[in-house]
Amino acid sequence: MQRFFGLPPSGELTNETVAVMKRPRCGLSDVEPFGETIRWKKSTLSYRIAGYNLSIPTSKVHKIFRAAWKLWSNVAPMKFRKRRRKEADIAISFHNGDHEDGSPFDGTGGILAHAFVPGFGIGGDVHFDADEDWSFNSTGFNLFAVAVHEFGHALGLPHSSDPGAIMYPAYNFDPKDEVLLSFRDVKDVQHLYGISPNFASLFAKRPPPRTPDKCDPDLSFDAVTELQQEVLFFKDRFMWRKHPQFDETGITLISSLWPDSVPHYLDAVYENVEGNLNVFFKGHQYWVLRQLTLEEGFPRNIWDLGFPSRIKSVDAALHFRNERYTVFFTGHECWRYNEQQKMMEGSPTLIEQQWSGIPTPIDAAVVYEGLVHFFKGNIHYKFDFNSKYVSSSPANDLLECRENDDTEQTQMR
Ligand SMILES: [Zn+2]
Ligand SMILES: [Zn+2]
Repeated sequence: MQRFFGLPPSGELTNETVAVMKRPRCGLSDVEPFGETIRWKKSTLSYRIAGYNLSIPTSKVHKIFRAAWKLWSNVAPMKFRKRRRKEADIAISFHNGDHEDGSPFDGTGGILAHAFVPGFGIGGDVHFDADEDWSFNSTGFNLFAVAVHEFGHALGLPHSSDPGAIMYPAYNFDPKDEVLLSFRDVKDVQHLYGISPNFASLFAKRPPPRTPDKCDPDLSFDAVTELQQEVLFFKDRFMWRKHPQFDETGITLISSLWPDSVPHYLDAVYENVEGNLNVFFKGHQYWVLRQLTLEEGFPRNIWDLGFPSRIKSVDAALHFRNERYTVFFTGHECWRYNEQQKMMEGSPTLIEQQWSGIPTPIDAAVVYEGLVHFFKGNIHYKFDFNSKYVSSSPANDLLECRENDDTEQTQMR
């Protein structure tokens, strides 16, 4: 289960594992039974919406469900028709607590919904927990996002361990994101039903988003930071967490650890151990979190740190725990920030003077195991302070890519 959610697979019930287990999620098991895949044998499916009692108007709910089915019919050659008749293939309903199918709901939070694999009777049916605060905007649980996931089950799809997939078991809708089928979801449903004739034209301009792959030789990073004993590698809306005691580095969503206020596609991140702070940079703004909570008054403008207005963003940040200062990298320059006095020290210097052999501008930087690590494109540069020696290797070498790790992902390339 820990591996499934990108946590270090210690087998121990850590606080973080408990937190993940408590996260809102789908009621279906993550471990799928072996056997042949179950799918509908026809390409037009009917659905009906059984009575419900929600604060969202009926017409809105119908619209949400129609749009959710459309995401699937855009990629697979399927048609979904709403019916009033009882004999629809798929019945969608809202229930409180025990609703006599052997999988009672649990009130607010926890299990949000579940669905049944294709088949007669209850097969293909979708149940939502009526006790949730369902919504179609940013408050409460997004009915659209959960419906797309459950409809995937109603079509016969199991859970995916890819945190970018709609079929990931935990509720991972972030109001900053659009609800889209990922590359993985598309491949999985097309494996069951084939490819929609409209697929190529619909997705020509904007293919389904792929979750970054740690074995990709072209992998680059947005930001890298230490976090207590771990090293975190940020990319898009994801991060890999490298823990010294575990040899597997899992990928997870940034939002699985930090609140939605932390932006995606970050520029730089560092940990200020003494202040127990994590600092995130994107564009001309920065966010400070104490443990996992956003400090009041953030985001703030990076100019508040002492940058002149010509600086529009920060490429990377390097924090020195013992010396209590942080070096910021912007283009070809670096800036030294005194964390105790909370001010910039002097004028910027050229990166090539201070860090000879490091190409600029850089993507990310971190101090780790006595060396300074820089990342630019798909290359990782290790800078030795004492000898000033620079060595290079592939950017993803700290993520321990082993070919077997991502067999499925490799096959899809
Ligand atoms: Zn599910
Ligand atoms: Zn049920």
